[in-house]
Amino acid sequence: MGNNTTSMPAADSGERFADIQLLRYRLDGFAELTLRQKLYAYYLSEAALWGRDITFDQFGEHNLLLRKTLEKIYCSGPADYDPADYAALETYLKRVWFSNGAHHHYSSDKFAPGFSKAFFEKAVRSLGHSGQISDPEEVLEKLCPLVFVPDFMPKRTNKAAGADLVATSACNYYGPGVSQAEAEGFYARKAEQNPGCGQSWGLNTKLVKRDGLLEEEVWNEAGKYGPAIRRIVHWLEKSASVAENDRQRKAIALLLEYYRTGDLGTFDSYSIEWTGETEGVVDFVNGFIEVYSDPLETKGSWEALVDYTDREATARTKAISQNAQWFEDNSPVDPQFKRKGVKGVTAKAVRAAMLAGDEYPSSAIGINLPNANWIRERHGSKSVTITNLTQAYKEAARGSGFDKEFATDQATIGLLEKYGDLTDDVHTDLHECLGHGSGQMAPGVGADALKSYGNVIEEARADLFGLYYMADRKLVELGVLPDTEAYKAQYYRYLLNGALTQLARIEPGKTIEEAHMRNRALIARWALRHSDGAAKLVEKGGKTYLEISDYGKLRAVFAELLREIQRIKSEGDLAAARRMVEEYAVEVDGRLHAEVRERYGKLGIAPYKGFINPVLRPVEDGCGNITDIEVDYTESYTGQMLRYGRQYGAL
Ligand code: ZN
Repeated sequence: MGNNTTSMPAADSGERFADIQLLRYRLDGFAELTLRQKLYAYYLSEAALWGRDITFDQFGEHNLLLRKTLEKIYCSGPADYDPADYAALETYLKRVWFSNGAHHHYSSDKFAPGFSKAFFEKAVRSLGHSGQISDPEEVLEKLCPLVFVPDFMPKRTNKAAGADLVATSACNYYGPGVSQAEAEGFYARKAEQNPGCGQSWGLNTKLVKRDGLLEEEVWNEAGKYGPAIRRIVHWLEKSASVAENDRQRKAIALLLEYYRTGDLGTFDSYSIEWTGETEGVVDFVNGFIEVYSDPLETKGSWEALVDYTDREATARTKAISQNAQWFEDNSPVDPQFKRKGVKGVTAKAVRAAMLAGDEYPSSAIGINLPNANWIRERHGSKSVTITNLTQAYKEAARGSGFDKEFATDQATIGLLEKYGDLTDDVHTDLHECLGHGSGQMAPGVGADALKSYGNVIEEARADLFGLYYMADRKLVELGVLPDTEAYKAQYYRYLLNGALTQLARIEPGKTIEEAHMRNRALIARWALRHSDGAAKLVEKGGKTYLEISDYGKLRAVFAELLREIQRIKSEGDLAAARRMVEEYAVEVDGRLHAEVRERYGKLGIAPYKGFINPVLRPVEDGCGNITDIEVDYTESYTGQMLRYGRQYGAL
């Protein structure tokens, strides 16, 4: 069989547009998997790609219509149009592909088209004449406000305090006329009527009003997303036939039942099985999982990932997770909020083989699932870090001149060069393997007590747990870090990013909104204010730099903040969470913001990155048997997106 993985083009810059750069990830070690494992990964990949349209629809009522209309105009070619308009349409379409809709994937702000309304109207009408669209006027009526009216649904996910977050968010999780108060009341009643069962009410439904009454439309095989879900089910069934072990087969069987019925109890059973399955090499995520895109953090956006174990890196995460109880016992958290029996902190490093839905093209570099708190407490969770994605990021960052521009002196640049990559990985490991799994709630405190501040506080908790332990000798003893100097690189990089450089990602005039960015700002700004000058921002030659004079002191500051953040989480102290987030994590200093954007802009680095998937292609013998799965890295971004639209367009 041999190694028929086609080599990745060297120094492939992927593609660049707007604030985005596309990268490729390498499937090292994939060729060495057994044929059965490759087939398993391939079938799971097909199940992943078939869900793409669901995510588009979830992120906005007219996103699918928008994408399909833009694709038709784009594919009709530039001949009939003004070249500037056509080029602007191409860029806009690339952004729609990247964001799974009309709003920025990260800030959730609607982005503006660079083309005129007159051009768009003419183009849509000419599609009508050629029979590609049945009713161009109806299409224009639906799309024009979305594309051309800046004040119409300006946010996909509005988290601004004081607004009706449901009514003012463009995401498609709640029907017309449903208010935030009604939605919150609806799910509070569900939880009340079903005490102690812990189900994630509303995770896989759209909440709508019919004849004045609230009801849920379930996303199952018989529902609105049925055509996509039936394809997902088909490929999951095939994957079960080549699964590596019984537990994988059992998990898939439960997932299939859940997709058919939409029953959340079945989803929990699936999640428990999936969490417990740690023997297989190939693994996957497929379903309505993360709630970040819903302003009320209730609805799961559809996402999928197929991955396989990275053996070397897994040795490192194993060393950490096998000592989970030690880390828990020695943390600075109040003893009453420490987890007594930390169990099932399964940590592994994997390589992605396929990204889809809300994980594509922009993807997380680590995941920790399931999200249901009661399952995490009773059955543990599964943590993975995705090493071939972080590898691609590092390769893109190298030589960008970033450290040279932003690090305060030569010694710090040296520190970052020597330890930066490694300590980034270790911090992600600590965040995923230990941070999210640590701590426990006070009796009677519900998982959603912190409302829309819940995600920020949870991410801060996991990051702080990692930051605190980065500086611990234990990591050197375990062979995870080479010496007691290394952690300083992570402290510097983390504070630099949270206090300064992440501002490059925010548009002028906007505040910080995304949960992970808020978390990083919260930690960095709080630490700067409470470090008695051990870390501070200084001005040199008209530029702002971070200076750290006492790294040991910083560790004590992180310890103090971790203790408080864990208390807020455990007690469900909503008022304190709100104060903490609103004071430290939202506002942007205009002068600093402009400076960072200018310096960043000069380096020519795209603030956001995402990934072009490889093509997994079955190789068949003369009799129709699959003898291998070939990995091809040559597909372009546009080629991939258009192909996905043709091949996996279910809705
Ligand atoms: Zn996290």
